[in-house]
Amino acid sequence: MDPSIILQLDHLIKSFPHQTIPAVNGISLTLAKGDLLGLLGPSGCGKTTLLRLIAGFERPQDGTIALGDRAVCDATHWTPPEHRGVGVVFQDYALFPHLTVLGNVTFGLKTATQRHLFPAHKRKAEAQRAIALVGLAGFENRYPHELSGGQQQRVALARALAPRPNLVLLDEPFSNLDVQVRLYLRQEVRDILKGVGASGVFVTHDQEEALSISDRLAVMRHGQLEQLDTPEAIYRQPASRFVAEFVTQANFIPVERVGNGWRTVLGLFPVAPEDKHLSAGEMMIRQEDLQLRADDQGPLTVRDRQFLGREYRYTVTTATGQMFQARTPTDTCLSPGASVNATVAHKQQRVFAKHSEQVAVPV
Ligand code: ADP
Ligand code: MG
Repeated sequence: MDPSIILQLDHLIKSFPHQTIPAVNGISLTLAKGDLLGLLGPSGCGKTTLLRLIAGFERPQDGTIALGDRAVCDATHWTPPEHRGVGVVFQDYALFPHLTVLGNVTFGLKTATQRHLFPAHKRKAEAQRAIALVGLAGFENRYPHELSGGQQQRVALARALAPRPNLVLLDEPFSNLDVQVRLYLRQEVRDILKGVGASGVFVTHDQEEALSISDRLAVMRHGQLEQLDTPEAIYRQPASRFVAEFVTQANFIPVERVGNGWRTVLGLFPVAPEDKHLSAGEMMIRQEDLQLRADDQGPLTVRDRQFLGREYRYTVTTATGQMFQARTPTDTCLSPGASVNATVAHKQQRVFAKHSEQVAVPV
């Protein structure tokens, strides 16, 4: 196997009893050493199950898992979780309440495999090293209830990192934290993992978090990989309507082909070469690409304006009630009820074949 690959999954299938679609339905992917892979998708799409398969907490019905050059799960091998050299951080911290910070972190060094790597006399120093790494030096003797949520999650991270794993799996580690803590902790966790050269798989249902933290991003839907690419490529060239809607939160407007153009309520648009085979569909227009201008004769009406600090988020509607979202710099201040005109920043916009299934975008 390529030595630069830390994780390789091939056609993994896991279904639970009474499931019509497997929770993980034929996933294949590779992760390069030192990379942080984001796993993004709506609730129930199989993110946690995929992570549990990699960790060894679940057995797949089919498919293989290799960690570095070791097959840990295939037709002839099964490596139990404690022998996989993988660290796991859960959403709910899962700390032992009766153990101190030092006790919790040392606990991760006591499993059968770790005992020969970290004999008793080394454990304390190794645990202290991990505690310092997550910025908690001086907190060794505190109990979990004496720590904030963010600090407890740091302890969980220290416990996962203490045995010096090659791969760290994080399952929505920040979703129980306040937004402020979440914002700086996600950057810090990325820095810590990069600092020790660990590779990671990071599960989230928050698209902004996924885009900001990942080197590579996998978008999941119904147990399958919808797209795997860099965050930039996924944002700029979503492979499907689902990815576009989930990741970019764009507007989708019905369009009809007229010769070499798309007829829309916002005017005529040229057809992109990759969309030439379509005769109708839905055009993706990003909220930041829709530029609004006050115009008494304009075809749109402002319904709502939200001040988001750096920008305004407008909801505008057409005479027939079609709704658009636009994000504009704060120097564009339009009042609810005002008539406006809209132009689109980039003339050539992606068009997707009409999709019957809508996704719920989390807010
Ligand atoms: P996510 O983490 O993306 O929200 P999960 O991996 O938790 O999704 O779940 C994927 C699907 O598998 C869901 O339909 C869920 O109900 C089902 N599922 C997960 N774990 C179990 C289990 N232990 N028993 C039965 N069904 C499960
Ligand atoms: Mg989950």
